[in-house]
Amino acid sequence: MIFRWIASFAALAGIVLVYSRWLHVNQTTVALTLLLLILVLAANFSLRYAVAVSLAATLAYNYFFLPPIGAITIADSQNWLALFAFLSTAVIGSRLSQRARDEADEARARQREVELSFQLGRELLQLDDIANLASALPMLIARVTGAHTVVLYLLEGDRLFQHGIAALGGVEIPHLRQLSLALQQVDTSQHGHAMLPLKAGVRPRGLLTLQGVDLSRESLETIGGLASIALDRAQALEEVARGEANKESERLRTLLIDSITHELRTPLTSIKGAASAMLANDTLPHDARRDLLQVIDEESDRLNLLVSRATEMAQLDSQQVHMTFQPVAVADLLAEAESSCLGSTAQNPVTTTVPKLPRVMVDPEFIHKVLCNLLENAAKYSADGSPIFLSAQMQSGMVAISVADRGFGIDSGELALIFDRFYRARTQAGRVAGTGMGLAISKAIVEAHGGSIQVTSQLDHGSVFTFTLPVEPA
Ligand code: ADP
Repeated sequence: MIFRWIASFAALAGIVLVYSRWLHVNQTTVALTLLLLILVLAANFSLRYAVAVSLAATLAYNYFFLPPIGAITIADSQNWLALFAFLSTAVIGSRLSQRARDEADEARARQREVELSFQLGRELLQLDDIANLASALPMLIARVTGAHTVVLYLLEGDRLFQHGIAALGGVEIPHLRQLSLALQQVDTSQHGHAMLPLKAGVRPRGLLTLQGVDLSRESLETIGGLASIALDRAQALEEVARGEANKESERLRTLLIDSITHELRTPLTSIKGAASAMLANDTLPHDARRDLLQVIDEESDRLNLLVSRATEMAQLDSQQVHMTFQPVAVADLLAEAESSCLGSTAQNPVTTTVPKLPRVMVDPEFIHKVLCNLLENAAKYSADGSPIFLSAQMQSGMVAISVADRGFGIDSGELALIFDRFYRARTQAGRVAGTGMGLAISKAIVEAHGGSIQVTSQLDHGSVFTFTLPVEPA
């Protein structure tokens, strides 16, 4: 500021000095040079500098260049003319340059607002987590617009999402609901505070409130429009996903029913056959009766297993199971599985190796099921007497539990498929009874714990199934 004053008067003094001392030119040249200086000041600084210099220039012009030189004769009409010319140049010049500056400022503000709308549009399109759009929207809008508080209210479900300092309470909801229904256009009546109606088509959808913003009405309308479109998009995607999930669950249900009817028929046929044989012949010898009863007993067990696995799978599918995670020692999990999964008549010796490990966060009942499943498979798909190894170790911050056997192994082409529902490896499907559901259930349980399950195997050499579990948080 002070620099401008000094520069303005220094320039005036310089001109007066040059023309009065060294360059002796006529009065018109002096007047035109002073006029030029005033024009330059009006264009680059503001009006007051130009006006102040105009007054000083009139006096200097009169004193140094108009006869009688060295005296001020205010009454002279030339004086008034010079003052009028200087002042009008100052005013016109500064008005023109002010207008140009205003227009440039406005153009810059518009450009910034267009960039802002573009950035918001891009961020909304790039948002991956579309399901949580409503909760992310206030933060995103605050970041892009610089608003200190953004509140999003959605009529559907009376939901309120906010980002920023001036938090609203639930008491505001009825008020917001009324505003959402009534507001048709962007409301900027309070300075720095904007209310944007959100629409779904022509129906009101909710309200967006921005505090601490200074944006044009057009930009606010664009922001409201973008937010509405993003919410429309999220809703449409959600509906598509729901439709697909329904279709998938319908497909699985049909698959389950098909497979169960098929699997149920085999044990039922055996049971029916054995029972009919016993009924038809009262005089069966004791041993034969015992054999038939044994068939009925075993096949009923198989039926029971099938039905319970199918139920379990359906519950896991529909996320109806409730797991309670608690810290458990890995050694306890393995010891319990070793002693109870294979039964007392087990033909395969199990060796357990557990180093010192942190406790894992699990639902012990469900992990017990996974371990039993893997141990039963290891025994089922191995020759009698072949050993099974149960072990645990740390692996990338999680506890990895492995069940290894030296059994029949799995063809490499089928490794990726055995965790699918109902899939049974071709080599064993006929040889050993099974449902093809055990591994699918185990996978679902392990994943619900935040872990993963894998297998490595070589045909005729054996398999190693490994699953990971999260450790107890410190
Ligand atoms: P099920 O054993 O009832 O058939 P699973 O889902 O437990 O169903 O297993 C799916 C398939 O994976 C089995 O049919 C079998 O072919 C293969 N499999 C599972 N565990 C082993 C193993 N330890 N050794 C060889 N094959 C296995």
